[in-house]
Amino acid sequence: MTGVAGFIGSTLAELLVADGWTVRGIDRFTAYYEEATKRANLDELSKSEQFTLVEADLLFTDLEPLLDGVDVVFHLAGQPGVRLSWADGFRTYNDLNVNVTQRLLEAARSVPLQRFVYASSSSVYGDASVVPTNEDQPTRPFSPYGVTKLAGELLCSAYGANFGVPTASVRYFTVYGPRQRPDMATHRLIEAAQSGTQFPLFGDGEQIRDFTFVDDIVRATVLAATTELAPATVVNAAGGASVRLIDLVHLVGELVGVEVNVDWRPAQAGDVRRTGGSIERASALLGWSPVVDLETGVARQVEWHRNRRRT
Ligand code: NAD
Repeated sequence: MTGVAGFIGSTLAELLVADGWTVRGIDRFTAYYEEATKRANLDELSKSEQFTLVEADLLFTDLEPLLDGVDVVFHLAGQPGVRLSWADGFRTYNDLNVNVTQRLLEAARSVPLQRFVYASSSSVYGDASVVPTNEDQPTRPFSPYGVTKLAGELLCSAYGANFGVPTASVRYFTVYGPRQRPDMATHRLIEAAQSGTQFPLFGDGEQIRDFTFVDDIVRATVLAATTELAPATVVNAAGGASVRLIDLVHLVGELVGVEVNVDWRPAQAGDVRRTGGSIERASALLGWSPVVDLETGVARQVEWHRNRRRT
């Protein structure tokens, strides 16, 4: 698995180990956010004999030995986030999201894989005209980040069609829950509420997101590896509850027991107005639907932040 020290990768690896898988996890601890946070994500995993960490940069390292004996590649490594993907930042997005994916697919050609699962994103849709958006809707990314995630997906299709690499792309919709990345809205919001500081809210608060709890996302990701699927399948994994950002602010305020102090800021380039994913295909192909509702999920994330503050 790639990106194992990250928010979603570490959660996925824990589920796999609990289900009896042996996991070779690769991460280079990029500087996108603090290395110590990523190391802490691996605390539980590193106690397991089924888990090995390989510290390597997928952009340069020799990939063939890493894929030796592997049945499934879960490719979650990448440079996330929309806002830094403009200007000179794009080079890193291109390297970590496009070039790394191409290198991995090239190496995967010579390995008899059961599945190559790619962590794609709702950002491939851009500002979709139809919500809930299904996988047949046009892909028109609104940010350079979205462009690179779509390029990764298209590379998966091309390597599938030409060389039979058994790829599947799962389009994640705004993932939240324990270990969420510190740049993401729910994380910043809970930290602001708990510390009594201001929460910078970019835009008018009316932007709508389809929030998906991390345990639901990792379940969909495992199913994408273990279910019989046509080559180059693309499938949404969405939480099913589209919520205005301002309603999330109120929910976090209630759960923490404070009124959140909002610092209103202008909308940021690349942020779309609305995301909402249809899960019909995920339900039909994977037998998947989300089970954690927003209130339960946010309460679990609030608890995680509380425990972190205590340690
Ligand atoms: P994250 O930043 O927490 O995890 C990504 C991990 O990949 C990091 O630990 C990083 O060090 C590692 N990495 C990056 N480039 C690497 C390289 N060249 N070599 C080795 N390791 C490398 O991000 P996340 O939120 O867990 O996202 C995981 C994946 O899911 C990403 O591909 C992201 O684009 C995708 N995704 C996330 C969301 C979300 O809401 N979090 C939504 C849609 C898609």
